[in-house]
Amino acid sequence: MSLPVAYCVQTDSVIDIVRAHDHYFSQDVPREDLTFHCPDELCRNRQTSPPVITGVNYNKIPKIDKFVQKPHFRLRDPERHRAGCPWVEVKEAIDAFDDESGPKRFSNLKRSDLIDVFSPPAEGEELTNLRIDAAQVKAISGLPSRQARIEAYKAYLRENPNRSSRLQEVAACFENMTEDERKRTMLIIEGVGEKTYRQQFTSAEYCNPNTRKRIYYGFASVSEEQDGFILRFRRTAQQSDGSSASVNVVVSRTLLHGFRGKGLILATLLAAQEIGGFSLSCYAFGEIERIDTEAEPRIFIQLDSLHSLSVMLRAQG
Ligand SMILES: [Zn+2]
Repeated sequence: MSLPVAYCVQTDSVIDIVRAHDHYFSQDVPREDLTFHCPDELCRNRQTSPPVITGVNYNKIPKIDKFVQKPHFRLRDPERHRAGCPWVEVKEAIDAFDDESGPKRFSNLKRSDLIDVFSPPAEGEELTNLRIDAAQVKAISGLPSRQARIEAYKAYLRENPNRSSRLQEVAACFENMTEDERKRTMLIIEGVGEKTYRQQFTSAEYCNPNTRKRIYYGFASVSEEQDGFILRFRRTAQQSDGSSASVNVVVSRTLLHGFRGKGLILATLLAAQEIGGFSLSCYAFGEIERIDTEAEPRIFIQLDSLHSLSVMLRAQG
């Protein structure tokens, strides 16, 4: 089972797994593996060597050809942590929460990984996944008994929606659900409303400027231009006037500049161009704009930030 955060020696900060993934791929090649310790300061600053947390697959570009475990932090050897280390208790609470997830059980997704709310951030804003944050841990770790603390973490997980500002995490949920699970699981998109996962995601071939905002997905080709990359969905979209429009997402250098997760996005886009045998699976969320050129009508999904884009490699098969 996984921990939401870990202390990263290289960045000297407590980070979540997406930040670790971003940080790893933002390094120049050859990239250095990262070292993680317990997020609890008292635990890692004791005389004994600090308890190591394993970062799983943060150094890989996700491919969905074979089932690759999604990147996560794993807490091993709870006995190496100090007595009362809150993160050992958080781990226990998350494990119990996943085991008792009842009707929200999924075939290929842990309940604690399910995103309930997608809140696309305003430009420049950095939101992380708020699953159990340091403030909650601080509040709950003051309770007198271990059992009471674990119950309190479980109650927090049950009662609070799991929010994410990253489309990448929401798309991973969608990818890991069966069609039936998508139809019975709700997703709130802030500014759009609450619908099922199935209704919030639409194949890019149905992209149309006149419909409500939704998450569009499909396979795309990528080309590098002077100002950035253009992702073009393979399928065109039939428009109400009978024309057929290409559907595009522009990943401009302006968007890339200053975006913390650009390392992974760039590595994925370059791999899609340079390594044969892969297709690029693309998810995008934004306002739809149609521009009629001489050659064809073109639709652009305008990203507010790169948090609203998810690109993954898939083996061609
Ligand atoms: Zn610890």
